[in-house]
Amino acid sequence: MPKLNLAVYWTAACGGCDVSILDIDEKILQVGELANIVLWPLAADGKYEDVEKMEDGAIDVCLFNGAIRLSEQEEMARLLRRKSKILIAYGSCACFGGIPGLANFFTKEEIVDRVYKDTPSTDNAEGMVPLATVQVPEGELSLPEFYNDVFTLPQVVEVDYYIPGCPPPVDLIVRAIDAIATNKLPPKGTVIAGQKALCHECGRVKEDKKVKEFKRPHEVEVDPEKCLLEQGIICCGPATRGGCGGRCTGVNMPCRGCFGPAAEVLDEGAKMVGAIASIIDSADPEEIKKINKMIVDPAGTFYRFGLPNSMLRRKRKEGKVS
Ligand code: SF4
Ligand code: SF4
Ligand code: SF4
Repeated sequence: MPKLNLAVYWTAACGGCDVSILDIDEKILQVGELANIVLWPLAADGKYEDVEKMEDGAIDVCLFNGAIRLSEQEEMARLLRRKSKILIAYGSCACFGGIPGLANFFTKEEIVDRVYKDTPSTDNAEGMVPLATVQVPEGELSLPEFYNDVFTLPQVVEVDYYIPGCPPPVDLIVRAIDAIATNKLPPKGTVIAGQKALCHECGRVKEDKKVKEFKRPHEVEVDPEKCLLEQGIICCGPATRGGCGGRCTGVNMPCRGCFGPAAEVLDEGAKMVGAIASIIDSADPEEIKKINKMIVDPAGTFYRFGLPNSMLRRKRKEGKVS
């Protein structure tokens, strides 16, 4: 069987997804046998022009990690889509916007002001900020455009498969490699993970217990057997796709939703509001308000990995982008 051409590329990402590919230990040898790595900026030099010169469809599989925030990232996503037979959104940032997607709680101007003018350590009396183009005696210099929004990869180009996780766990990567090696890929559009919510695969005991207060994990002694949500610890398991094997809940930490919404969930924040409403032990509106206020940063918690992929996609004020 001829070797496949494999590309790995990153955009608005932390590098963890790239490194996770190396976590597959000896399976990396199978990747070596299976594929020629034609592009992987983390591991080897590769230029835009090299990709441009490839024939369309020359890359058999592209693992694309990272969200899209800059015009250059969008350009690379479009180029790699054209050059790749199979484009896989790899990791939460590419699939749902991920941690970089939390920037959608702010406007572009707010971010630029904070970074270049307002931080306590900034000394920028002239208020200089980066511009997309600037004229210098030698000609025009340009920088990639910084968009107002963070986008997911599938909001920019058509994606064939999704491997979620921050970063994706080893067994899912191995599953994907095996599927590619044996040419047994699932139907296009499949999320290579569980289909049901994480709660379905969580071994913790659920007793339909109601709560009167919410606490953070460091504020309580966590019972290792019982459902975290029923202990008053916000756990996003009811809204999150399973398939990670409970990496966090297994070590007494609540799920933060890195696998994105479960198959039947349209919006993880809305689902979590419903799940939380169902466990609050009160019918008194004032008391309910007080209990709800104990949830620290609800929007940032429920949409930690998927704000750009949510129904609202970003913070809005009176129907407008704010
Ligand atoms: S999904 Fe997580 S590990 Fe992967 S690039 Fe994004 S932040 Fe990093
Ligand atoms: S809410 Fe969290 S701890 Fe409870 S069953 Fe679901 S995943 Fe497990
Ligand atoms: S428990 Fe939740 S946050 Fe942790 S790895 Fe699984 S899906 Fe991601």
